Amino acid sequence: MSKVRIYTLAKELNLENARMLEILDGLGVSYKSVSSTIEEDTVELIKQIVAEEGTGSGDEVTQAPAAAPADAPDTAKGDAAPQASQPAAPAAAQPAAQAQAPASATATQGRDDVVSDASKAEIPHRAPVVTIMGHVDHGKTSLLDYIRKTKVAAKEAGGITQHVGAFEAQTSKGRIVFIDTPGHEAFTTIRARGANVADIAIIVIAADDSLMPQTREAIAHAQAAKVPMIIAINKMDLPQANPDKVKTDLTQLNLVPEEYGGDLIVVPVSAKTGEGVEDLLEYISLNAELEDLRADPKGTFAGVVIEGRVDKQSGVLATVMVQEGTLHVGDFLVVGENYGKIKAMTDSAGGRIKEAGPSTPVQILGFSEVPTSGEKVSSAKNEHAARDLIATRASDRRDTENAQVQRKLTLEEMMGP
Ligand code: GDP
Ligand code: MG
Repeated sequence: MSKVRIYTLAKELNLENARMLEILDGLGVSYKSVSSTIEEDTVELIKQIVAEEGTGSGDEVTQAPAAAPADAPDTAKGDAAPQASQPAAPAAAQPAAQAQAPASATATQGRDDVVSDASKAEIPHRAPVVTIMGHVDHGKTSLLDYIRKTKVAAKEAGGITQHVGAFEAQTSKGRIVFIDTPGHEAFTTIRARGANVADIAIIVIAADDSLMPQTREAIAHAQAAKVPMIIAINKMDLPQANPDKVKTDLTQLNLVPEEYGGDLIVVPVSAKTGEGVEDLLEYISLNAELEDLRADPKGTFAGVVIEGRVDKQSGVLATVMVQEGTLHVGDFLVVGENYGKIKAMTDSAGGRIKEAGPSTPVQILGFSEVPTSGEKVSSAKNEHAARDLIATRASDRRDTENAQVQRKLTLEEMMGP
């Protein structure tokens, strides 16, 4: 036996990936992701630990020491998340004898600033939010269309799906939210305002075209945002498809695919035939599990504008991604120096809803001004509080502006005539 991938070993030992990473952290073993490989010695060590804990599949040879916690509860804990529908292995019951490091912060990336580690275990999991980027004509729209067609429950006949900028897919591994304004624009405008909406970036590369300028750009954006990437090599149905060239080209960017011994997950797909799409969704879920994405539906509301527009009939409509807390019809929202009261909300499938929790994209009717993509949305207790918040923001902005003018004047004075 030689090197083994972390997730392969986790599967073999019937452990959750998060638990496996905890063990690795405890051992001080470094890794980049669940697809990183670990040495044989480490594998043996882990098997021993798992056997001692008695938390694995049970058919491992147990070398249980005398102090084995025979009465350790084997009930799954901490994964009561609604979307955690996969048949999770019983979470590791921690033996009292073994001091265990808390869930490692290195296992999470991106939005880990939102939740502190201490309270993390009590906060429910949330669905991953995925963005799709890549070179023009490599099949971003087609891939999203395929996923939408096959994974979004059909609505009643006659229902018109309005473009809301995001949709929710139901997969065997739980809910996945896709931002469906593909391209770097959505990603960069949102990021430019300091918000990070995406948890995972899918970089679509056509198998007959390999890496193109916008592919490199997309990769650079994902790297800058520290958003984990999954590569989808699309158009695999074409006779001229050359996935090996794509993988070699990626290697030249220092992105080494798994099968070449690296950590990069590369999934061959066809948006035309659907080949590989299920695998892609599975890798997204695997990655989400690793990232340990959580948000508190009972916490203070926080959200980001995905897009805003004016509808001739309804007026101003905004798609907002709920990141923390829960939105309710009637809530007061503040975006920049504007506020609105939610008159109506629709989910991404066009259905009317009364409330929306974390990782839910909702279309909101009730703003008076069109909000811009990437603007942060917060809620206020009532209209008075909303106005107060806006007044504070406006005065802060004027102070900053005045200070800037002042500084400029002083500079000019200093420089003399
Ligand atoms: P985008 O610019 O990245 O959004 O690319 P599109 O989704 O618009 O696709 C560009 C072209 O490639 C269209 O003509 C699609 O029909 C075609 N296309 C996309 N995916 C596939 C695929 O998997 N196989 C084949 N044969 N054609 C595809
Ligand atoms: Mg397109």
